[in-house]
Amino acid sequence: MSLIPKSHPRAKSLLIREKLVEGFDKGLVAREGLLAQGRGEAFDYLLGEKTGKASKRAIKAAAAQLLVAKMPVISVNGNIAALCPEQIVLLSKQTKAKLEVNLFYTNKKRKNAIIKTLKKNGAEQVLGTKKTSSKKLSGIDSARRIVDKDGIFVADVVVVPLEDGDRTMALRNAGKTVITFDLNPLSRTSQTANITIVDNVTRAIDLLIIETKKLSKKNQKSLLKIIDEFDNKENLKENIIQIKNNLTRRAKIA
Ligand code: ATP
Ligand code: MG
Repeated sequence: MSLIPKSHPRAKSLLIREKLVEGFDKGLVAREGLLAQGRGEAFDYLLGEKTGKASKRAIKAAAAQLLVAKMPVISVNGNIAALCPEQIVLLSKQTKAKLEVNLFYTNKKRKNAIIKTLKKNGAEQVLGTKKTSSKKLSGIDSARRIVDKDGIFVADVVVVPLEDGDRTMALRNAGKTVITFDLNPLSRTSQTANITIVDNVTRAIDLLIIETKKLSKKNQKSLLKIIDEFDNKENLKENIIQIKNNLTRRAKIA
């Protein structure tokens, strides 16, 4: 039971933080994951804690990309399992994407806790579990290069929410189309991915599910057009300008 009153001016942010701390206590989240959340929170504050126009555009492009993918995979880490397990399973069902547990800080116990959480939230199959199915991505150091031979290794489109820059780079080098959620438009992941959704994953994931439902009625040609018209670099610029405009507005009323 949460002790945070709904009327608290920062209730939403505190509730997200609480979920992560609970996830940490349950063995889902790494200590480093708590720090990543803190960095995310700072950027969310600067963005005005809302989904801007540029993020909505990225969500639409991501939905189209997932629907045209032949073999999409969603990579799940501890933070995602703690913040939005139900939604991530829903997204995978909606887009026929496989789920793979892929951790920056590998740890068998934590991996099992994440798998358990995903299954409890309706996941049928979770990849990245068996040693026998592991394959190595090149261009990245040992422990972090392991991926599932039936998952990320053969995927054409990979969703990596809250990912590290090195790994995003390795996925791009392996020829994958990368979609990410990252609150920091300046991070290496944001700058390296093909489609960067600069938004809190807890807000954006629901919008992405809605968008995939909406776009599933469109034909392949219109989906490809949406992807083609999307320019990630331009979009990131707009996200940075959103921060600048928000700060300018705040400076005026301070
Ligand atoms: P990079 O390695 O890409 O340069 P980094 O080293 O600054 O990034 P990491 O810890 O590797 O950061 O990646 C975590 C990223 O996830 C951070 O950029 C952080 O802003 C972002 N993040 C944290 N919590 C959330 C959240 N709830 N929603 C979206 N993004 C988040
Ligand atoms: Mg990093």
